[in-house]
Amino acid sequence: MTRVVLSIGSNLGDRMARLQAAVDGLGVSVRALSPVYETDAWGGVEQGAFLNAIVIADDPGADEHEWLRLAQALEDANERVREQKWGPRTLDVDLVTCYDGAAEVSSRDERLTLPHPLAHLRAFVMVPWLAVDPDAELTVAGESQRVDRLLSELEAVDRDGVRLTGLVLRLGTTVEPEA
Ligand code: ATP
Ligand code: CA
Ligand code: CA
Repeated sequence: MTRVVLSIGSNLGDRMARLQAAVDGLGVSVRALSPVYETDAWGGVEQGAFLNAIVIADDPGADEHEWLRLAQALEDANERVREQKWGPRTLDVDLVTCYDGAAEVSSRDERLTLPHPLAHLRAFVMVPWLAVDPDAELTVAGESQRVDRLLSELEAVDRDGVRLTGLVLRLGTTVEPEA
């Protein structure tokens, strides 16, 4: 069984529809959805604010490579165009960390680095993650660390920049015919 923590973000077009499309695409494997937060863009490129959320999913048949393939398929389905590093995008789906049973998966491959090498520096990842899992832990520099602790080490301005919205992602928006 593998469980994945996904960070989803959008700052182009109908941002909320893109996030919901990602959740819908993950379907029955979704276990938990964070609230939706708004965050000014990160990385120095001038662009609109992002909506961000965390999705926790599990699937007995999916390993970390399968989760990456699925993440990229969701981006492609949402007309993601890769133009500029850290530039605006309709949908970004990053694997924050992945578990095989109780063990956190480690991967150094450039195509798939796990845990995500910048997750512990990003309030827009850690704030929503803690909202769904207050005891979350993340391996940083080979050591498992509490995410609340990692977040507390960031500048207050970074934490405060992640603003809770009233927007709500929904599970299973497909309408089933009544029995
Ligand atoms: P960042 O990863 O710093 O948030 P980004 O999301 O803008 O940057 P992308 O252009 O979406 O970067 O992805 C670049 C490549 O990163 C992808 O082609 C993918 O193979 C690789 N990658 C490596 N590790 C991961 C991971 N943990 N999750 C998602 N993609 C990853
Ligand atoms: Ca990203
Ligand atoms: Ca990405």
